[in-house]
Formats: sequence, structure tokens, C-alpha cells
Amino acid sequence: TYTIAEPCVDVLDKACIEECPVDCIYEGNRMLYIQPDECVDCGACEPVCPVEAIFYEDDVPDEWAEYVSANIDFFNEI
Ligand code: SF4
Repeated sequence: TYTIAEPCVDVLDKACIEECPVDCIYEGNRMLYIQPDECVDCGACEPVCPVEAIFYEDDVPDEWAEYVSANIDFFNEI
């Protein structure tokens, strides 16, 4: 799955939402989240993010590793 990290916080540009073919990017209070069970790993969202907040899960920088679980937890809590 792809995941959204810290650069999205308080930005929520939403260009990614327009690109996602399966509509699996959802809006939280301060950032957007990718539903990991729905993401088909197409990668369409990654290049359109103006703040480069989107990464394939294995490529998330170490300092933002917590965002992988944050994306999962967001959908477990709603
Ligand atoms: Fe949507 Fe594709 Fe991005 Fe997954 S990788 S969130 S399916 S645009």
C-alpha cells in the first residue's frame, strides 16, 4: 500500500484524491489518509502531491515511519 506522511499535515491539497482510481484516499481532520485495504498500489497519487507526502510503504523515510501505522489506525477508529 501507499501511505501519506507528515508533509500533508495541515496542507490537505487533495490533488491525490482526484487521481486515485479506486477512491481510497480519505480526509481526516489534519491530513489525508490512504485506506490500505483498498489501495491497489497503482502509484498515481505519488507524483501529483505538491508536498511529496506520499510514499510506497517500503519507501517511507524513517522519521515518518509512524505514519504507516497512523494510516492504518485511522480506518480502524472510524
Ligand atoms: Fe489510490 Fe493508487 Fe494512490 Fe493507492 S497508489 S492511494 S490506489 S492512487
